[in-house]
Amino acid sequence: MNKIYADNAATTKMSRTAIDAMLPYMEEIWGNPSSLYEDGQKAAEALWSARERIAACIGAKPKEIYFTSGGSEADNQAIISAARLGASAGKRHIISSAFEHHAVLHTLEKLEKEGFTVELLDVHENGMVYPEQIAKAIREDTCLVTIMYANNEIGSIMPISEIGAVCRERRVLFHTDAVQAAGHLPLDVQREEIDLLSLSAHKFHGPKGIGALYAREGIRLTNLIEGGSQERGRRAGTENVPAIMGMAAALEEACRDMDIHRKKLTDLRNRLIEGLSRIPHSMLNGDPVNRLPGNVSFCFEGIEGESLLLLLDDRGICASSGSACTSGSLDPSHVLLAIGRPHETAHGSLRLTLSADNTEEEVTKILRVVPEVVAYLRNMSPLWKDIVSDRKEEKHGIIQ
Ligand SMILES: *Cc1c(COP(=O)(O)O)cnc(C)c1O
Repeated sequence: MNKIYADNAATTKMSRTAIDAMLPYMEEIWGNPSSLYEDGQKAAEALWSARERIAACIGAKPKEIYFTSGGSEADNQAIISAARLGASAGKRHIISSAFEHHAVLHTLEKLEKEGFTVELLDVHENGMVYPEQIAKAIREDTCLVTIMYANNEIGSIMPISEIGAVCRERRVLFHTDAVQAAGHLPLDVQREEIDLLSLSAHKFHGPKGIGALYAREGIRLTNLIEGGSQERGRRAGTENVPAIMGMAAALEEACRDMDIHRKKLTDLRNRLIEGLSRIPHSMLNGDPVNRLPGNVSFCFEGIEGESLLLLLDDRGICASSGSACTSGSLDPSHVLLAIGRPHETAHGSLRLTLSADNTEEEVTKILRVVPEVVAYLRNMSPLWKDIVSDRKEEKHGIIQ
């Protein structure tokens, strides 16, 4: 059975282009970019060209790009750096939102223990954080606003340029976790007035374990890793040249094909949303229109997301209940709770995230299988029987 892979928000398959871009840097030009002989210098030149190409994709300058081990490290370094800069000016207030990735939330918790005040803004029911909320929350001592570009579970896309404008006007640093956006949505750090931005290669068909932090010229980063003077002294360790080359190639390819892919994915996504909405007692999570092209997120009342995933796996469909980080734990997703889903409902979540490799036939199969599996699970669930009979009683006025 051919598996249908619909978990592209967790990770993506590497593209042929990315693999081909990496091979020469494993087989031929494998020198250390810090070495002065020719083979080292060839690697150093390749590294610089990758920096230029990545910068060009997001409207940055090459020297504003710092390579990291991925999105998590970029988030950590961006936030810690802004906090240190703030503290040195007596500013210890940070604004974020309740539905950020754990790489952001856990870093903020750490800073809270150090005496920073962290304000997590409420997320609107449709999965949005609005610039007016930011404007209202900014204080004299605010040193950082960190709001994700697009949410990895429910796919909603934030009004980033408006938030950037508010922060710039109030002279507060603005970081955005753009891991789900890079390669999928057009990004421009100048136009959107972004000071710090995180991206990760394995979310746009590049290799795992590599990412980048954009930091606007003049923002002094705090080192998380001490050692050699790589990355202009801000991130020690011999550069992973093959992975960096793969990331540059993958990002360029994703940006080149963005419009075509966006259109294809939006059509497939809308078909899925329309079809799955017909399941009784289902709820779409996130904004119906303003969402990532490949993201479909639902809650189905009366079922356990985990059981749903296992049965879908049996039927050859790889999906997720929320983020890869929360699956395996019994707690419902903090993102679904943040948009106001009750605990029981949040447990019955399903996230399907598509890539341009998915086909119409696959969508047809998903639309056939998911309603069957949901009905099967509900049939077995005492919880579901309660839900349905409560509803009837409410309708007939037995419960006031
Ligand atoms: C995947 C993801 C990350 C983490 O990136 P890694 O490269 O896996 O460390 C951070 N933020 C968001 C929104 C993500 O989807």
